[in-house]
Amino acid sequence: MQAKIAVLPGDGIGADVIAEALKVLRAVAQVWGHDFLFEEALIGGIAIDQTGDPLPQETLDLCRASDAVLLGAVGGPKWDDPKAKVRPEQGLLGLRKGLGLFANLRPVKLIPALLNTSNIKPEALRGTDLLVVRELTGGIYFGERGRRDGGKTAYDTMIYTEAEVERVVRLAFELARKRRKQVTSVDKANVLESSRLWRETATRVAQDYPDVEFNVLLVDACAMYLIRRPTSFDVLVMGNMFGDILTDEASMLAGSMGMLPSASLAEGTFGMYEPIHGSAPSHAGKDDANPIATILSAAMLLHYSLGLEEEARAIEAAVEQVLSQGLRTYDIAEPGSQVIGTRAMGDAIVQALVAGR
Ligand code: NAD
Repeated sequence: MQAKIAVLPGDGIGADVIAEALKVLRAVAQVWGHDFLFEEALIGGIAIDQTGDPLPQETLDLCRASDAVLLGAVGGPKWDDPKAKVRPEQGLLGLRKGLGLFANLRPVKLIPALLNTSNIKPEALRGTDLLVVRELTGGIYFGERGRRDGGKTAYDTMIYTEAEVERVVRLAFELARKRRKQVTSVDKANVLESSRLWRETATRVAQDYPDVEFNVLLVDACAMYLIRRPTSFDVLVMGNMFGDILTDEASMLAGSMGMLPSASLAEGTFGMYEPIHGSAPSHAGKDDANPIATILSAAMLLHYSLGLEEEARAIEAAVEQVLSQGLRTYDIAEPGSQVIGTRAMGDAIVQALVAGR
């Protein structure tokens, strides 16, 4: 197959981990006979430095002309002045909005070889395999915000329309049908009006999916249950900010932020794929960041945007294999494991992929 993939490394470890994901995608192209065209563009802090804009028009145009986008991470202390008018995250938020990426899928699947890496008890963790579906283009990150009283009062607005909620909840149900057929909708309906609309809408949509078990949960209780009984969840669907926070928490179930991939989907097959972690500036260029989250994001790209199931599964299998051989980056190391760098981890995964074919 032929596909054009926009590559946006961004800042910090973004370039380090993207390089390894590209190695893996190039190996897939070679082994399975695909023709992937990769084209790079600027986003985030590096884009501010070079163009003054965290999301240059050229980048948006390239993404729109591509089948999918692979992104590293944005941000860093250099651009962290809270008073700055132009910030790296604006690039990311602009891309999500500009590309209509309304749903962010974050699978959290414990790889058996990492059972002892997490600081949660193995008996609670064993079998964890959940999918968080986070609404991505609405909610408090996009609502009206500002200051008044001479800057001494600040406000942000959490705003959702019924249509926005329905679209993402429907996707969650469709995905649940291909999994264990259970959806949990997470909100704060005891306090927030936007959450009451969220719950009403989710409950109505659930009636169209009688084959899928449906539950609602308050976000604070969900934060607790994710640690206490993670294996009880299949698909969780929630608003933008709740999803942002709970997926960082859930990353600890998988051992490290460096393990968790994500897909941000638009209507149709177009999507943007990125690790859930940030740019970890203190690790940039040190060849020690874990590239697995980005490599698994590339696998999601093959699955969701290109429909290449076998190739996506082969990447996941290669990752599992190197981990079961005891190879680890520093963030998932445990006594007795062999700690290797970013590039060596990418090479080992490519080797396992090619050998497994
Ligand atoms: P972070 O995710 O960048 O890093 C937090 C810590 O997690 C790191 O210090 C490191 O110890 C560990 N870590 C993260 N990714 C890792 C990996 N692949 N391998 C090994 N260890 C890893 O979060 P932060 O330090 O809060 O933020 C740093 C910058 O990233 C900030 O500027 C923030 O705004 C930005 N950020 C960007 C995104 C994004 O681009 N999607 C997301 C979150 C944060």
